[in-house]
Amino acid sequence: MSFRFRCPKCGSSHVTINADRHTTYGDNPNHYIKCTICAWMLYGDEQIRVEVDRQQAVTERRQMESFRLRTQVEEHIHEETDGARCSWAGCGNPPRPNSKYCSRECSNKNARQRYKKRKDKKGPEESEAA
Ligand SMILES: [Zn+2]
Ligand SMILES: [Zn+2]
Repeated sequence: MSFRFRCPKCGSSHVTINADRHTTYGDNPNHYIKCTICAWMLYGDEQIRVEVDRQQAVTERRQMESFRLRTQVEEHIHEETDGARCSWAGCGNPPRPNSKYCSRECSNKNARQRYKKRKDKKGPEESEAA
């Protein structure tokens, strides 16, 4: 997994980690991160650890999402090569498995149209065309 720490302010990866001489006691130097682009700074080992953890979590989530997205696109392409189409005229989407329609919306549209046609035949009352 490729993870690069980025400046949360400007998004640049030009960040340096330095030992802070001013707050160093004994063998445990305190560190600080500095962005060379916008001069953003983060002091303290604990704060740095928290920020790195946060960015790593975001990176992992992004990678998961992009992987899911890629899988969905591949599935979509596969469905389209079947040649099947949604039964609603004017909709070019592939139908869902076990359905004539790509979505509930198309299925509803078709049901509404059937209902309207039946009504129009019955009589002029409520007919919108008249
Ligand atoms: Zn910056
Ligand atoms: Zn459809």
